[in-house]
Amino acid sequence: MATPSVVETMRERLYRRDPVFSFEFFPPRDAKGGEALNNALVELSPLNPAFVSVTCGAAGSTRDLTRDLVCSLQDRYRFGVMAHITANGYSRSGLADLVKDYHARGIRNFLALRGDPPRDDPGWTPGPDQAGHAADVVKMVRDLFSDVSIGVAGYPETHPEAASAESDLRFLREKVEAGADFVVTQMVFDNAGYFAFEHRARKSGVRAPILPGIMPVTRSGQIERFEGMCKIEVPKTLRAAVRGREDPGRVREIGIAYAAAQCADLLRRGAPGIHFFTLNQSRACHAVFAALQAMGW
Ligand SMILES: Cc1cc2nc3c(=O)[nH]c(=O)nc-3n(C[C@H](O)[C@H](O)[C@H](O)COP(=O)(O)OP(=O)(O)OC[C@H]3O[C@@H](n4cnc5c(N)ncnc54)[C@H](O)[C@@H]3O)c2cc1C
Repeated sequence: MATPSVVETMRERLYRRDPVFSFEFFPPRDAKGGEALNNALVELSPLNPAFVSVTCGAAGSTRDLTRDLVCSLQDRYRFGVMAHITANGYSRSGLADLVKDYHARGIRNFLALRGDPPRDDPGWTPGPDQAGHAADVVKMVRDLFSDVSIGVAGYPETHPEAASAESDLRFLREKVEAGADFVVTQMVFDNAGYFAFEHRARKSGVRAPILPGIMPVTRSGQIERFEGMCKIEVPKTLRAAVRGREDPGRVREIGIAYAAAQCADLLRRGAPGIHFFTLNQSRACHAVFAALQAMGW
């Protein structure tokens, strides 16, 4: 195997303290999806993000697709690639093998997750040979390699299964103490909620940078779907602005304007960067990025 190229890790990148921009993609399952992803990469890669990340479908359902996409992006681009890895869907040894394989290919950034339960088993509990929580995954990766950056998920509106906001923060701290370098949040639409979460996280001892996750709204039905799926609340102003609008172009314009203003405010008030959930589409994220550049970011 040729010696893999190793690029700057997120830990090194965040240390530089200028804003970190990243794009999240998912592995397409068919040719049409592949074309959409390719188009998005062609549009977004010249923006030179600090890293791009690749999701892993619920319960490892895209395990081979994720691995192939992570490796092909690593070979194709200069920016860092972050592989999402999940406890759910893998045995401990299977997950360790995956991480070792990624490492041998030059991947140095991981988002360590418990993972979503399988669609047909919402009450999933880990098997005896599986990691039970994301902190176990962080520890496993950190025990294997000291030269990688590890991110973990954070929930400004509290994870839906958490017993309380306090316990959720305690477990976030556990993930960081196990070796995580940074936190990427669930999608945020309300900056006050992000900063309140950051404040509470700092008070409970979480020192790692917390990157807000941003998803520009591009279709009117998305808001209900995000709220239902992720148990988050979208501010009334945005909800009212897109409700009942038939014109998709107008909805996209509103979503872009909202996200651009939101990102500028986040950065101005000290957020370490922006993680964009692209849904493998480029137009909205590109427009938000261009607006931020025009504002001097
Ligand atoms: C940026 C981002 C990217 C994501 N990418 C993916 C992806 O690619 N694939 C995917 O399947 N899912 C993904 N998810 C979703 C995530 O996997 C789910 O939200 C999942 O339900 C929880 O994962 P976690 O890593 O946050 O789990 P954990 O941190 O383990 O937390 C899960 C729940 O358990 C609780 N908990 C944690 N530790 C303990 C403990 N020791 N004892 C008792 N309770 C505990 C927490 O409070 C929380 O309620 C992503 C989420 C985010 C925010």
